[in-house]
Amino acid sequence: MPEGHKVHRISRAFAADFVGKKIAARSPQGRFAAGAAVLDGRKMTDSRAVGKQMFLGFTGGHWLRVHLGIYGMWDFAGRIREQVEVDPRAGTRTLRTVHPEAARAGSGTFPPEPVGQVRLRLATAVAVADLRGPNTCELLTADEMDAVIHKLGPDPLSPLGSPEEAEQEFVRRVRGRNVAIGQLLMDQGVVSGIGNIYRAEMLFRAGLEPHLPGRSLSAETAAALWRDWVGLLQVGVDTGLMLTMDGLGPEESALALASRADRHWVYGRAGLPCRVCGTEIALETMAGRKLYWCPSCQR
Ligand SMILES: [Zn+2]
Repeated sequence: MPEGHKVHRISRAFAADFVGKKIAARSPQGRFAAGAAVLDGRKMTDSRAVGKQMFLGFTGGHWLRVHLGIYGMWDFAGRIREQVEVDPRAGTRTLRTVHPEAARAGSGTFPPEPVGQVRLRLATAVAVADLRGPNTCELLTADEMDAVIHKLGPDPLSPLGSPEEAEQEFVRRVRGRNVAIGQLLMDQGVVSGIGNIYRAEMLFRAGLEPHLPGRSLSAETAAALWRDWVGLLQVGVDTGLMLTMDGLGPEESALALASRADRHWVYGRAGLPCRVCGTEIALETMAGRKLYWCPSCQR
């Protein structure tokens, strides 16, 4: 399941290459035919991501809400500017631009024929976005969208108020609950965008025992968790990667960029020695997902 950084990157691609343009919309698979007919021919006016959900605005006050869930994905083709690629060996970042000409040379035609079960295709004259397998794809009014967003916990990159208010909201939602912090971080009603990998890594970085109830955390500890998330999310949006280890030397940095196995403190390392203390990394199921943690560093 894509975590928040991915959804923000997708939203930025829409903002760069679709917002302000007239959109041709259709549902090659047929399951969103009525919704696509409403959007077809309208101009896209806005693109917002809140946590794992994305909202695309269209003239006439229509909003498309998409939640990718576990199997959903967007595929872009044509002239797409805002896709940063990381070169693992050089550690450099570049903007990838796929021109219609290149797409033509590769597949023979532009736009390419939809492949597989495309729920929704949104297209400008030079760019195409295909949505497959989403958990949710629906049309909302502005009021309905607001209601959805207000139920979600704060997202550092889409705060409803000031950044300080978003932090206070997180602290309040964490400290008001008698539920394990490892569970609260995955609860999209507490904080938006954190998934399984960020959860495990943030708890390790904070030295927090995952079973501690939210209300046992001090306001300072909860605020520090939020600020760590703000930084990690920004790195994730900038690089497209969940880089959760910092303070690395050049060689370790290159390894972390190149390979997922060298990118995290505890995630995916059950039974392996902790990178800091050597204790075996523990694994259990929490909030329905695998939780990795170091019983020595986190207590
Ligand atoms: Zn440890």
